[in-house]
Order: sequence, then C-alpha cells, then structure tokens
Amino acid sequence: MTNTNPESSDVLTASNFLRDLIAEDARTKKFGAAAIQTRFPPEPNGYLHIGHAKAICLDFGLADEFGGKTNLRFDDTNPEKEEQEYVDSIQQDVRWLGFEWERLCYASDYFPQLYEWALQLIKAGKAYVDDLTADQIRQYRGTLTEPGKDSPYRNRSIEENLDLFQRMRAGEFPDGSRVLRAKIDMASPNLNMRDPVMYRILHATHHRTGDAWCIYPMYDYAHGQSDSIENVTHSMCTLEFADHQPLYRWFIEQLGIFPSQQFEFDRLNITYTMLSKRKLLQLVQEKRVRGWDDPRMPTLSGFRRRGFTPQAIRTFVAAAGVSRTNGSTDVEMLEHFQRDDLNRRARRAMAVLHPLKLVIDNYPEGQVELVEVANNPEDPTAGTRQVPFSRQIYIEQDDFREAPPPKYYRLSPGKEVRLRNAYFVTAQSVVKDAAGNVVEVHCTYDPLSRGGNSPDGRKVKSTMHWVSAAHAISAEIRLYDKLFTRADPSDYPEGGSFLDNLNPHSLEILSGAKLEPSLAQAKLGEPFQFERVGYFCLDPDTSEGHLVFNRTLSLKDSWARIEKKAGA
Ligand code: ATP
Ligand code: MG
Repeated sequence: MTNTNPESSDVLTASNFLRDLIAEDARTKKFGAAAIQTRFPPEPNGYLHIGHAKAICLDFGLADEFGGKTNLRFDDTNPEKEEQEYVDSIQQDVRWLGFEWERLCYASDYFPQLYEWALQLIKAGKAYVDDLTADQIRQYRGTLTEPGKDSPYRNRSIEENLDLFQRMRAGEFPDGSRVLRAKIDMASPNLNMRDPVMYRILHATHHRTGDAWCIYPMYDYAHGQSDSIENVTHSMCTLEFADHQPLYRWFIEQLGIFPSQQFEFDRLNITYTMLSKRKLLQLVQEKRVRGWDDPRMPTLSGFRRRGFTPQAIRTFVAAAGVSRTNGSTDVEMLEHFQRDDLNRRARRAMAVLHPLKLVIDNYPEGQVELVEVANNPEDPTAGTRQVPFSRQIYIEQDDFREAPPPKYYRLSPGKEVRLRNAYFVTAQSVVKDAAGNVVEVHCTYDPLSRGGNSPDGRKVKSTMHWVSAAHAISAEIRLYDKLFTRADPSDYPEGGSFLDNLNPHSLEILSGAKLEPSLAQAKLGEPFQFERVGYFCLDPDTSEGHLVFNRTLSLKDSWARIEKKAGA
C-alpha cells in the first residue's frame, strides 16, 4: 500500500506495521526495563541516497516516538571499500535530515568482542576453520533444490580449530586460504544456514583500526552481535535480509547475549532513479556526473545542492509508506512534496533565462522607478522588496512572437500585456539581426496602468516577468532533467548496462540569464521561486563575479495528473 495523502506530513503520522509492532513491544515491556533502542547502520562505502532516508526516518522516527534512542553505527567491516570521507558525509547527511544520534558507534570497535565470541563458539563446537577455497565452498553449499555437502574440514577438533583461528588472527596465513564458519546445517532449506562464513582473512588497512586486524567478520556475524552489544531492541533492515533472519537469531541464541530482533521492510525505489551505492559510485568514478553531490544524483548531498529540503524528503518518505513487499514510487510524488514545501518557503524573484530586449519608447530616458513587490504571496511575514524598473528591460524570448500562433496570448505586434507589478505595454515593432532573428522589441506603455492595473478596467490575457536591463545581474543557470530515460534504470537490453539508460540531456547550462539585482545577495541554501520559471537556489560553484543557480524544479506539477489517472 502506498499512502499518497499529502496531508500526512511526517513519518510519525503515517501508519505502518513497524510502528504497530514497536508500540506493542513498548506496551508489554517485552525487553523489560530496556528502552526502545534502534540503530541506523550504514556501511561507509559511499554517500547516503534517498533510500537511506527512509531507513533513517524509520530508525530515528520510531525510536523517538516511543521514547527510545537511536545510534548511528558504521558497519565498517569491509576495509577495502570504506573511507573516512564517507564517514564524514554520512554524519552530515543524517544531521541535515534533522536527526541526532544517541551514540556514534563503529562495528570495528567491536572487533575484539566479536573475536572473543568467535572463540566461544569454537569452544562450544559451533564453529570451525575451513580450508576449502571460496569456489569449493560455493560448490559444497548446494542449491535451493539440493542439500549441501559437509566440508572435509568440518569435524576438526576444537583444539585444532582454536589453534588455526588464533593463527589466522596472528597473520600466519595468506588472504583467502582459510575461513571460520559457523557449524549449523549443510542440509538446511535456508542457504544462509549452511555453515555461513563468519571470518575471512584479509591483509588490508582499515580506515580506523589500521593494520591491527587481518581477519574481518562477515556482515551476518558482525551485524546482529553489534546490535546486541548496543542493546538494540528493534533492528530494522530491508527485505533482502529476511532470509538472513534465522541466522541473526542463531548467533544471538548460541551466545546467549542481548536478544535484539530483526524486522524487515521494503526498500524505497523511485522511478527514473538509481538507488544503489555501488552504481552511484560507478557514475562518480566514470565521471558520468560531476561528483557524489551532483544535483542530478539521488544522494542526500545531491538533493541538498539541488535545493531540495529535508522537510520535503521526510514528508515524501512518510507518504511513500512502509510495507512488506517491494514496489516503486513515482518520482513525481517526491517532486510534488518538494514544490509544496518550496511554494511555502521560497522567496519570489524575477529572472529571465533566455533574454530578449524590450524597449519602451515612450518611457522617459534615464528614469528609474522602484516597484514594491511581495517576497512571498503565500507568506505575509516574508515582507517586500523593491525592484527597479526602467526604459529597457529583458523579457523571455518565449514571451514574444512576431507571428503568434492561435491562442498565443503573450506579447506580439499590436497586443497588450501586463508586465508584472509594473505597467501594461503594447508591442509596436521589432529589430532583427542579419539572420532575421528578432533581437529587440519596441513597445509603448500606458502610464496610468502603474502597478499592473489599467484605470479603465481594460483586461489583458497575459502577465509577464521582466528584469530592468540597466540593473540586471548576469548568471549561469543549470537546468536539470531526469538522470535516466527509463522508469526502471536497471532494465536494459541484453549485453547492455544501466549506463545505456542515462539521459544525455540531463544537464543544460544557460550562460546569459538576467536576474533582478536583489539576487546578488542570495545565500547558499536559500530557496527562490523565479516567477513563472521554477524553483532555484545558489550553487556552491558560485565565485566572485560569477553567479551560478541550480533549477531545483520547474513549476509544473504533474503529480496531480498522475494521481487522477491512477484513481480513475
Ligand atoms: P546500497 O545497496 O545502496 O549500497 P545498502 O543497503 O548496501 O544500500 P547500507 O549502508 O548497508 O546500504 O544501508 C544502511 C541501511 O539503509 C540498511 O539498513 C539498509 O537496509 C537501508 N537501506 C539501503 N537502501 C535502502 C532503500 N532503498 N530503501 C530503504 N532502506 C534502505
Ligand atoms: Mg550494504
């Protein structure tokens, strides 16, 4: 079930089965005196994407709702792929979304404890050192329809296992030569229970523990035990881990440690969007985008740079809902919530993306009027500002047609239109370049229509934005479109790759836009609505004398239409 009700404004109001479950456990005090404890466990091998925002909202939102706490835990058990840069960006992004963790934890801090517990399992006859190669282990594992085979090393003595494991840890053996496996059941219908690997040998430098370890725990062994160490009561993860749940429980039961429990929910999938760190890393490494925070990326840092707000992302995630089956959510729904949020908070401004000079022949040369304009009609507290008006202004090229098609109500020779908050003007003549392109339009204005209303009740069919030419500031404008051309980017013809679905027109750069002068004071993170054009924000590439604005979204909301179609 997808909840598309725009009124459900955050994760705490939308109903979901995880909340019901935690509410029940809190009511019955299932974990005794222990408070509800959750964790958000990213692996620091990339930047967070909007899929992670769903997990974050659930982990933090639900704990908070029941008076519990949430740890941020780095699941850093793969030294080769993990970096401090990712650790830093993840913390920044969680905070940006609006959450603060109780404790900052690292699975790597638990390496000594995990090692002790591994020794304990060996001593209990529940784990053994296996000398089979990775390929052999795969062959011996069997398939969904065939049981696995016992490794010839499965029945080593406890003493031999202890000796070998300690020597693995001491660095006596090369990478890949041995592993430690849990001794469970090679005939289990669940492949995860067929003696899963607990430790592998890897002589790699870890971003935190350096060269202290040359054996590293596997996800399945590290995760549940880390949960248990932190007294996590509800360990929420995505559905692909459902099959791992028996193993999660097995380790905890064998060790007799805090009984953390795992619950699964559906991954967030969004149309035209790739949510996989590995694939996003590929886009960055192959320079298909300008970096992890490229505004076309579905990373939280990309959304932030593009001008999306944490409020809208949280609202969207809540509305997309939680369930026990994977589905896909329309990207238009995310955009709808973002427009809704920006409409309320964005300061209005006038900006002309494709300028065309308009000269008002009967307006006094050298005269400048300051027009008082509301900063946000949706928010009376946003105040007003003054915008200069003068004889030569810029309008959008699209707002003039020398030979207007039927139903074209904007400016054309002999037609009268309103310049927003200013005057009525009537086009009179054009100036063309050698190629026949209109480069300047001449018009006359009605001085009595000041403020945008005619004294005799005359109506015009169009209101246009404008920028005074003498006062305009120039800017580079970056327009973004979907990064992928296919609703499901991982759907590609045989022999191809998801890269074939990249949209070659996802970025368009305009270099000659003309902006009202107040935008020279725009600050990073401040949202603007360029009237009639869209939502924009300043880009960090801005430098002295070179303003760069990103289009967050156009104004057109296609979600209402999609929703109507779905309902019909
Ligand atoms: P990716 O496949 O993109 O690398 P991951 O699951 O490997 O994602 P982790 O860093 O391990 O990334 O994820 C941390 C948490 O975020 C996990 O609990 C994971 O289940 C959750 N998560 C990751 N992707 C999504 C998603 N698309 N929707 C909801 N939760 C997600
Ligand atoms: Mg992962």
